[in-house]
Amino acid sequence: MELHLTDFAIWVRENPWLLVALTGLGPIFLGLLIQRLAGEPKGLDAGAAREESLAAAEAPPDSESPAVEVAPPPVLDIVSPEPEPEPEPEPEPQPPARLRDRLLRTSEALVGRLMGVLEGRRVDDALLDELEEILFTADLGVATAESLLERVRSEGRDSDADAVRALLKSAIGEKLAAAEQGGDRFALGGTPHIILVLGVNGAGKTTTIGKLAAKHQTLGRSVILGAGDTFRAAAIEQLQAWGERVGCEVIAGDAGSDPASVAFDTVKAAISREVDVAIIDTAGRLQTKKPLMEELGKIVRVIGRDIPEAPHEILLVLDANTGQNAISQTRLFAEVANLSGLVLTKMDGTAKGGVIVGLAHEFQIPVHFVGVGEGIDDLREFDSAEFVDALFADTAA
Ligand code: GDP
Ligand code: GDP
Ligand code: MG
Repeated sequence: MELHLTDFAIWVRENPWLLVALTGLGPIFLGLLIQRLAGEPKGLDAGAAREESLAAAEAPPDSESPAVEVAPPPVLDIVSPEPEPEPEPEPEPQPPARLRDRLLRTSEALVGRLMGVLEGRRVDDALLDELEEILFTADLGVATAESLLERVRSEGRDSDADAVRALLKSAIGEKLAAAEQGGDRFALGGTPHIILVLGVNGAGKTTTIGKLAAKHQTLGRSVILGAGDTFRAAAIEQLQAWGERVGCEVIAGDAGSDPASVAFDTVKAAISREVDVAIIDTAGRLQTKKPLMEELGKIVRVIGRDIPEAPHEILLVLDANTGQNAISQTRLFAEVANLSGLVLTKMDGTAKGGVIVGLAHEFQIPVHFVGVGEGIDDLREFDSAEFVDALFADTAA
């Protein structure tokens, strides 16, 4: 029997839906075939990945078994198998990152650059000039850069790279050690223990307060927060959001209300509710010295009305990204308030963290904490030895 093209044409005209179905089934069949062929290694990967994530945390029941009914997904899987996009903003249930990893950019900007010019050389005038250039552009502040350069000039002549590195590490370590407050950073000075938090807008005050509140609660203490940044409604809401997250009460007034009044109410509430710790936020409008001094003076006075020793702590929060500007901010705030400690935030992701050495060199104010991320656990007690090791990428800091 002979089959003619015309016969086929007639058949198609009579059964168009069958042809459509046949041509449609082709790719689906192909897809399934390809999926089956590529299925084995993929399955192994998924198994290995599951083991890893089990070690870290409970793995969510991910959709690792591609559904069989649709062809396109497996085909897409084959087109882009390896480059699984690593989620950049890290998920929460991670083990705490090493300080060294968080300080990577600062370490590179300071130590990395220094080692870059020192490599294979000995200290002479030409090298001193290059070191000077690096030290003076590393956000340490002029006084600190000068002091470090002088150390190399006087003690490091003719030294090789390793010796200069050791010399600078010990010089920086000494400065940082002077800024480390020994003892318990969570010690309480009374009940309630009142902490006032200062700093310019965006420095990280509210975030730091949230992290601090969580730390105190971990120590079994009750905490209350005061939304003393009454300048913008969003600032109040942000503190309230932290209060909800941490699980503590937030005393707040209306936007635009007197911050001293909120501070006063917070202290009153802390006393009447017999709370252990009250942390009070403030507005960071850094206009000129006089209004700042008046406003802070008033807040401090009102806090001390019922508890003469309060505030027990006045923390100044500084954004490491502002580099040497953090030094001038500290100078200004130190003139208007009796600062008990510094918090340097955003040390992760900035190359300007060298300013911490400048702060340590220029002020007698201890650095209490270092912020290394936006998460609730990303507040580290400042430990100068650990910090300098991390900066020089020496140990598993
Ligand atoms: P405030 O205006 O001083 O109260 O500053 P905020 O607490 O609102 O912080 C300003 C921004 O900086 C927010 O987006 C915070 O999430 C962010 N931030 C605060 N501390 C850190 C930190 O240590 N690391 C990083 N990466 N971001 C931070
Ligand atoms: P002054 O403005 O320099 O006279 O400072 P005061 O010490 O008299 O008060 C400062 C601010 O604290 C006031 O503007 C009020 O907002 C607040 N304050 C003082 N006493 C009280 C009080 O009894 N209740 C409340 N809610 N706020 C108070
Ligand atoms: Mg704020």
